[in-house]
Amino acid sequence: RKKELRKLLDQPTVSADGHRVELAANIGSVEDLQKVFANGAEGIGLFRTEFLYMERNSLPSEEEQFQVYKHVLERMNGKPVVIRTLDIGGDKELSYMKLAAESNPFLGLRAVRLCLSKQDLFRTQLRALLRASSYGQLKIMFPMIAVGSELREAKRLLREEQEKLAQEGISVSAAIEVGIMIEVPAAALAADLLAKEVDFFSIGTNDLIQYTMAADRMNENVSYLYQPCHPSVLRLIRMVIEAANREGKWVGMCGEMAGDETAIPILLGMGLHEFSMSASSILPARALIKQLSRGEWVGYIGELLSMDSHEHIQQFVKQKIRGDL
Ligand code: PEP
Ligand code: MG
Repeated sequence: RKKELRKLLDQPTVSADGHRVELAANIGSVEDLQKVFANGAEGIGLFRTEFLYMERNSLPSEEEQFQVYKHVLERMNGKPVVIRTLDIGGDKELSYMKLAAESNPFLGLRAVRLCLSKQDLFRTQLRALLRASSYGQLKIMFPMIAVGSELREAKRLLREEQEKLAQEGISVSAAIEVGIMIEVPAAALAADLLAKEVDFFSIGTNDLIQYTMAADRMNENVSYLYQPCHPSVLRLIRMVIEAANREGKWVGMCGEMAGDETAIPILLGMGLHEFSMSASSILPARALIKQLSRGEWVGYIGELLSMDSHEHIQQFVKQKIRGDL
């Protein structure tokens, strides 16, 4: 089986009926790049930048960040690299940044909310990203966007830093894409509005499921509610994909669900363009997609979304793919 999978290393990801999608890797550090190459990723769909800020005593400088982003873009040699701006707060804290205690940190000053309230910190990261953009195919992604005004404010800061760099004579790629993660139900429900203001969406199901089901993703006591294939979650995902498609924008997924064998056929049928996952899931996912008929799965979506439970939906998919394999 391993040998079979290795044959798919340099192959594009195409369904049995010729529909092409992209399989990308999630990374959390420069060291992860090795696995990206070893597993045939077509790009990086999520670069979590938190590691740059954690386990140290002060904020990373612009130069330090620039070097890391540049390195990753250069190593990826023109393949797409989605870099997510800082997602701190919630469960992740910084020892050197004293934040007010919150009784519901996951509903508090987290990710882009924190960045917009600490603009110096945010501007430093944006400048480092902009400077690195000329070394590859950079896509900048804002996490935890709930409403359009957050996106517009983040884009305004990005534009301002870009103008400053231009005045300093520093070149910035003209091809940078700017997108958002869809991980808050409010954003999913208004995806048609947000789609007009972005170049892409990436669905962050780890958080989208937690917020949709009102079940802490780390809390064992409510883990039974953490259901990627629940009709509520799938309906939201379909809304997001359709909203992006209607605006001609690409849409990916970078939560764990993107690498889940039961979810992949459904996502393919719904029209997801990019699946970003742990590098080790890429070759099995490519092998699975090669066996699937995209047209057939498009046809199953209506029926799947009318089923009443996670279990029924999973059972349906498992039966169908057993037939395919
Ligand atoms: C997500 O929420 O699905 C996601 C990819 O982000 P993180 O797991 O870093 O919160
Ligand atoms: Mg998240």
